[in-house]
Amino acid sequence: MKEKFSALRFLLAVGLVLGLVSDTFAQRKAVMPAFAKKVQAAGIYDDFPEPKPGDWQFEQREPDQSFSQYVQSQPVRATKQRKFLYVQTLGEFTEKQEEILDKTCEYLEIFYGLEVRRLKPLSDSIVPKKARRILPGTVDHVQFNVMYLMEKVLYPRLPENAAACLMFTSTDLWPGNDWNFCFGYAAYRYRIGVWSIARNGDPEDEQQYTDVLRRTLRLATHETGHMFSMLHCIRHRCNMNGSNSLEESDTQPLEMCPVCLAKLHYAVKFNFRKRWTELQEFYEENGLLPEAEFAEACLEAQ
Ligand SMILES: [Zn+2]
Ligand SMILES: [Zn+2]
Repeated sequence: MKEKFSALRFLLAVGLVLGLVSDTFAQRKAVMPAFAKKVQAAGIYDDFPEPKPGDWQFEQREPDQSFSQYVQSQPVRATKQRKFLYVQTLGEFTEKQEEILDKTCEYLEIFYGLEVRRLKPLSDSIVPKKARRILPGTVDHVQFNVMYLMEKVLYPRLPENAAACLMFTSTDLWPGNDWNFCFGYAAYRYRIGVWSIARNGDPEDEQQYTDVLRRTLRLATHETGHMFSMLHCIRHRCNMNGSNSLEESDTQPLEMCPVCLAKLHYAVKFNFRKRWTELQEFYEENGLLPEAEFAEACLEAQ
């Protein structure tokens, strides 16, 4: 019995030592890539603002996730077998919404450096009565239960070779219980996410078009970041900042900060020069001029 106990203690000790070694090894490996250090040193990223009442971080007090912590969390990553980003649409879209969706797919491909594939569109008649509601206090504002869409509609259709699969709907979403709505929802481990453009504005209105495009691009890339296991960012003003409202997310940039870029690179291994050159072209073609200038500053920092 005594021997057994000692053997067990030895095994535990070995386990602890191996644990420490593997932690240290992962930490040693988790060095920010040179391009991320260079853009960080260029000082072109704003600090994370002091949270005010009503802001996401003021309400949620989320912890920081360093690059090393991200690597140690064994995040979802693209692999040879799982290398496509799939987009699944649900329900009807206007012509302008379709245009914004096409641009979002183009942008996702550049932003993540992964080929985007579209799945056959789904009719929203697939959503049963129990997963729909009229938003309390309104007459006809329909919402879909995002949890139902994730679990019952998207997950069973997840292609085996998907790095991630994103569902896009023009109907508003709510995550259940006493929540009013949500912009989107993504799983950290299951490679799926759902997002709605219902609250992004009216793209038929020329005055709003660029804002609607910018919001949709940010939402799509932000949710995809969660699907690669990235937590909200509290280091800089960054695409991965959490947001409580449209007003708050409108203050947040499209681009990720150096720490989140390092995580992104770990997840999908993009080429930084190709990425920012293509991003700059995309921004210029679509009238996103502050973003085009920012991409140029990132290229100059290399
Ligand atoms: Zn988020
Ligand atoms: Zn960040």
